[in-house]
Amino acid sequence: MLKIKTLENIHLNSQVAIKPDYLIHPTVSGNKFRKLKYNLKKAQSGNYKGLITFGGAFSNHIAATAAAGQELKIPTVGVIRGEELITQIESNPSLRYAQSCGMHLEFVSRLTYKNKTDPAYLQQLLETFKDYYILPEGGTNALAVKGCEEILTLNDQSFDIICCSVGTGGTIAGVINGSLPTQKIIGFPALKGDFLKEDICKFATKSNWELWGDYHFGGYAKVDSKLIKFMNEFKLTYNIPLDPVYTAKMMYGIFQSIQSGKISQTAKVLAIHTGGLQGVEGMNIRLKKKRIEEIV
Ligand SMILES: *Cc1c(COP(=O)(O)O)cnc(C)c1O
Repeated sequence: MLKIKTLENIHLNSQVAIKPDYLIHPTVSGNKFRKLKYNLKKAQSGNYKGLITFGGAFSNHIAATAAAGQELKIPTVGVIRGEELITQIESNPSLRYAQSCGMHLEFVSRLTYKNKTDPAYLQQLLETFKDYYILPEGGTNALAVKGCEEILTLNDQSFDIICCSVGTGGTIAGVINGSLPTQKIIGFPALKGDFLKEDICKFATKSNWELWGDYHFGGYAKVDSKLIKFMNEFKLTYNIPLDPVYTAKMMYGIFQSIQSGKISQTAKVLAIHTGGLQGVEGMNIRLKKKRIEEIV
C-alpha cells in the first residue's frame, strides 16, 4: 500500500484556499494517486500478474502508474499513443521517467490507440500480457472515483465552492460524491467538448456541480504566453507551482471569475491542486522550441 501525507489547506487570501494534493506522495502525484489507490489494491489481489494502462506522450497517469508499480513491485505496461515516440524516449522526460521506473512501453499508432476500450483489442493485449489488470486511459473507473471521494475531508465542509480541474471527469465525480449537497463543485475542463458531462453523470451521485468550459486555452495541453505568465506570477506570489495542462487553467479561471463577479466575493473557495507537475519539463522543451517564455 502506498502511504500518503495528510496536509493542511494553504490559504492564498481571505477568500481562496488550495488543497495541496500535489504533495501527498513524492512520485505518485495528486489525483493520480487517488485514482490508483484502489485499482492497485485490486491489481495486487491474487489474480493479476501486472497492470496495463494507456496514455499520451506526456501523461501524468502513465508517470504515476509507473512510479507506483515500481514502489509496489507490480509490473506495469504503458500503451502509448504514437509509434514515432519510440525513438524519442530519451528526449521525452515523462516517457524516460516511466521507463526508468521499469514500465514496459508499448508504442502504438494513433489508429490502433483508438481501440483502447475495444474488447477485442484488449483481449489481444492480454494474449501478450497474460493475467494483467487493465486500467483505462487516465485511470478513470469506479475504483478511481472511490479513491477521489477521499480528497475532501471534514475540514473542508466550511467552503462554499470547491474547484477542480477536469480531464476525463473521474476526479470531479469523486469530489462531488464526497461533498455536501450545499456545496457547489465547479469543474474546469482542460479540453474542448461536451462529452464530459455524461461521463461525470455516470459516477456522480449528486447534481451540485457545473462545468465552466471557457478556460481550456484552445484545448488539451495547449497553452499561450498569457497562461504561462499567469503561472509564473502565481508561483512568485504564493510559492506554489502549477502545471500547464490542468491546475494553471483552473486557477486562472478562478481568479478571473472572482474578478468578474461570477464567483461572489463572499464565497469561500477551495481549489484542489491535483498535481501534474511532472509535465512541466516536457512542456518547457516544447515552449523553448516555439520561443515562448518558459515555466519557472
Ligand atoms: C489527470 C489530471 C486531472 C484530470 O483528472 P480526471 O480524473 O481525468 O478528470 C486533473 N489534474 C491533473 C493535475 C491531472 O494530472
